[in-house]
Amino acid sequence: MLAYRHAFHVGNPADVLKHIVLLGVLERMAAKDKAYWYIDTHAGAGSYQLADRMAQRLAEYQTGIGLLWGRKDMPPPVAAYVKHIRTFNAGGELRTYPGSPALAGSVLRPQDRMRLFELHTTDFRLLDATWGQQPHVEVRNSDGFAGLKAVLPPPTRRGVVLIDPSYELDSDYGQLVAALRDAISRFATGVYCVWYPQLQSLESIRLPKRLKALSPAGWMHAQLSTAAPRPDGFGLMGSGMFVINPPFGLQESLKATLPWLARTLGQDGAGQHVLEGHTP
Ligand code: SAM
Repeated sequence: MLAYRHAFHVGNPADVLKHIVLLGVLERMAAKDKAYWYIDTHAGAGSYQLADRMAQRLAEYQTGIGLLWGRKDMPPPVAAYVKHIRTFNAGGELRTYPGSPALAGSVLRPQDRMRLFELHTTDFRLLDATWGQQPHVEVRNSDGFAGLKAVLPPPTRRGVVLIDPSYELDSDYGQLVAALRDAISRFATGVYCVWYPQLQSLESIRLPKRLKALSPAGWMHAQLSTAAPRPDGFGLMGSGMFVINPPFGLQESLKATLPWLARTLGQDGAGQHVLEGHTP
């Protein structure tokens, strides 16, 4: 049974990194008129109210989007992201945090399509209530790793896949790599964005290397650490976004952004970043 609920973590530094990179990718996809598909294999509930009990319990958003809300000195990709979050918060107070489906849904054009997978029954119901009736969207209460097979390649041969598992099962790492390998064999030119947690575990440390080996046609890797490693070996230090076939200009746009985020979100001076890429 799945225990993870994204509502407990919403708007934290990991969401900040993930959603800045995602918006950067989608903005570049829209530079061409030709339609694309956005596929979210682990969609979550879609959107979150920060006053809700779950978001308030750990209040992680206060260490993420909350620290950016009043800033006037943001690099352009951060400013664009915060401006976007503001469109969900009429009145100026931070109350709603859009998840990846809401963010992507708000930038898709009439010709684009969205496919969402969510396994948790409660989060699926919330997601379906918002997106289930939209003509250009399909929402499925099923396994996103397995579901990728059925939606690739998209008919338009342009697509972005966000793979954002909860990593609550150790098997998620292996499943992720297997699903990606299969997805690339079906749709080699797709843009694949993989979020992963930065932990003191072998699986987490090895993942970027495994993803690089899957991406001979080009990749970008952005990692943002905001907390120091704990002596007991537990806890999240930060997270990463690995993009296979990144759109042109994405890495360049993050050059000044990641050091700024590390300084702004790093706790007790623990902020660090990695930004690397390969284009054959
Ligand atoms: N992508 C969302 C966002 O950025 O707003 C957050 C997603 S959250 C990190 C991961 C979600 O994946 C959880 O809602 C969890 O219930 C769901 N999940 C876990 N295993 C899954 C699977 N095999 N297929 C689809 N969804 C899954």
